[in-house]
Amino acid sequence: MRVQILPVQLINQIAAGEVVERPSSVVKELVENCFDAGATSISIDIEQGGARRIRIRDDGCGIVKDDLPLALSRHATSKIASFEDLERVASMGFRGEALPSISSVSRLTLISRIAQADCAWRVSTDGTEQDFDLQPDPHPQGTTVDVRDLFYNTPARRKFLKTEKTEFAHIESLIQKMALSRFDIAFSLSHNQKEIFQLPLAMTEAEQQQRIAGICGSVFLDNSIKIDVASSGLQLTGWVGLPTFSRSQQDMQFFYVNGRLVRDKLIAHAVRQAFQDVLFNGRHPVFVLYLTLDPGLVDVNAHPAKLEVRFREGRLVHDFLFSALHRSLAEIRPTPHIVKID
Ligand code: ADP
Ligand code: MG
Repeated sequence: MRVQILPVQLINQIAAGEVVERPSSVVKELVENCFDAGATSISIDIEQGGARRIRIRDDGCGIVKDDLPLALSRHATSKIASFEDLERVASMGFRGEALPSISSVSRLTLISRIAQADCAWRVSTDGTEQDFDLQPDPHPQGTTVDVRDLFYNTPARRKFLKTEKTEFAHIESLIQKMALSRFDIAFSLSHNQKEIFQLPLAMTEAEQQQRIAGICGSVFLDNSIKIDVASSGLQLTGWVGLPTFSRSQQDMQFFYVNGRLVRDKLIAHAVRQAFQDVLFNGRHPVFVLYLTLDPGLVDVNAHPAKLEVRFREGRLVHDFLFSALHRSLAEIRPTPHIVKID
């Protein structure tokens, strides 16, 4: 066989293999796009665990009519333009791959309107066409992405989908995690036309606590301390559960780096060390923590789905986290009972 360039849809399907693992991965990419568009309200409507339909609407900046075909094309993004931009990217997206990847494994409709336009424009694709047909649409300012029949053309992926209930559970927990990173955005989630939750904007501290209580339980808030520590350009804020409020699983640990939910070995290690002498073996701390630092000090281009990050100064970050948490915990640690044996 001779060397040849692959068809566009196949190239996109290969890319989709990396980022579109299941319905919740589609939701993640689309909600991140809403974040980047400056949305203040996002509604997420799911049918049949996302396999039948995922529709996400925002009130963000929208996409200019002429850019709609580009937005569906690979390696096209409005978020970076140079290597320097990539080195200090502050947006959630930058790869220009989500929409083309998703459209190559589903039936996708994109509708968008910018503030200055007379109307919105709609484009539908099944991932095969090169020329897109734009139709006017009454959509208000913002963007809707409607993804139907996910994996209809990739049977191997479809076979790996779990039950509707499980896939939806993944989506629900993802939205909760994402909602904890953006109190300045209202979220609503529905499944099979039934409202699952509505999270209003949470600008005041009381409203934020309400959102946290709704997601992590009010027991968590009652049994946690607030953290706000800053040093050498790093800031750690959030809530940490008291050692008396630990869990047998690591299922309530939310760590955000510049607003991005990440799992990271270095962070996990620093946290584990900080809790080491206050928690019993096999127990896990509960926390919602936000690390903020100069975007130039984090490499977010380390993982296609961007679930992992690399710190340029790992040691500094590790030691900062450890000492910020260790100190906060030391302040609340109760004085040990002294048992006299003589
Ligand atoms: P990326 O987010 O990496 O740029 P995507 O494929 O996710 O790549 O999106 C391509 C482009 O489409 C974005 O750069 C952005 O300009 C536009 N876009 C996608 N979703 C939205 C949205 N919800 N609101 C406004 N613009 C959007
Ligand atoms: Mg994106």
